[in-house]
Amino acid sequence: LSTRLDGFTESIIRKMTRIANQYGAINLAQGFPDFDPPKELIEELQKVALEGPHQYEITWGSKLFRETLAQKQQKFMNIKINPDENIVVTCGSTEAMMTAMMSVCEVGEKVAIFSPFYENYAADTILCGAEPIYVPLNPPEFTFDKAQLEEAFKQGAKALILCNPSNPIGKVFTEEELTFIAQLVTKYDAFVITDEVYEHIVYEPNKHIYFASLPGMFERTISCSSLSKTYSITGWRLGYVIAAKNIIDNCKKVHDFLTVGAAAPLQKAVLPGLSFGDEYYIELNKLYTQKRELFLNGLDAIGLKYHKPEGAYYVMVDISEFGIKNDNEFAEKLAKTVGVAGVPGSSFFKENINNYIRFHFAKKKETLEQALERLQNIR
Ligand code: GLN
Repeated sequence: LSTRLDGFTESIIRKMTRIANQYGAINLAQGFPDFDPPKELIEELQKVALEGPHQYEITWGSKLFRETLAQKQQKFMNIKINPDENIVVTCGSTEAMMTAMMSVCEVGEKVAIFSPFYENYAADTILCGAEPIYVPLNPPEFTFDKAQLEEAFKQGAKALILCNPSNPIGKVFTEEELTFIAQLVTKYDAFVITDEVYEHIVYEPNKHIYFASLPGMFERTISCSSLSKTYSITGWRLGYVIAAKNIIDNCKKVHDFLTVGAAAPLQKAVLPGLSFGDEYYIELNKLYTQKRELFLNGLDAIGLKYHKPEGAYYVMVDISEFGIKNDNEFAEKLAKTVGVAGVPGSSFFKENINNYIRFHFAKKKETLEQALERLQNIR
């Protein structure tokens, strides 16, 4: 069997979902909503069931999907996007990132990853035969050391993975940080592969800046994102890569042989969402702002410490007070005895850090209230 896989473990996030199911715990581990997508999408899905399409779409995404997505992203990203030349529609951002990495990296090259990181990045890097270099985001504020980041490029990093707003810490990178990264990728002739799935979940006063929109960066950025979080459709597995034509030509090749294409009926059913006006995104942000407030206030009331997220829908709760050595055991016990599942923080860190548990708050008000009630028994 392949020894390449020895470089990473199974996904702890997905494992925690299985553990949550086993104990009937409220799943605040794997980040997905327990509320429905917008009704326009459900209605369109019903129509599509009768009218199709039910066969393959064009490999890199249906024309209408790409055109509608180009319109939307052009407006938000403030860049020009040609639907035929700059987009590949993928099976979630998960495939988008893998496609991006395989399109950019040679076997044996290095990829820089901020730690803590969403666990797919290391696995993706290793699966495409590259080697991760980790750059710490230092707690408690999760800022990076500029010299340390530059060191990764000095060591030959071909690309940097930039999850912004970030999972798991909810960091929204500042313009100053992004500008510094832009200087480095220019100086070292490298790329940035973004994961921007939480692009529309950013808490005031923070602002999301698309890396591709920075001066000169479109040519160096492979922007990956998905519709999962924006339209509450994580199971539809719709994502995309946006990049310059020469990069997208490579992505089209990789994507074609990896998956042939994303689900044709779902590409059609999501179109009303892609055409929503600004109001939708304002409301979405309001909704998550309320959820964040509810959940963080609840944690305050219980007396749990945490790192306040600036974006995305996760919170890293500091569990130092429990003096535990193994946060995996802690998380499993929490699911079993308290009835709330979270993700052991160590699964996100390269460093040996195990004083965090990650909860997500993409749940109905009632679910969050119930979870908070249960968490009162955490001690
Ligand atoms: N991004 C989500 C999380 O971190 C889950 C994604 C997934 O499991 N594919 O929980």
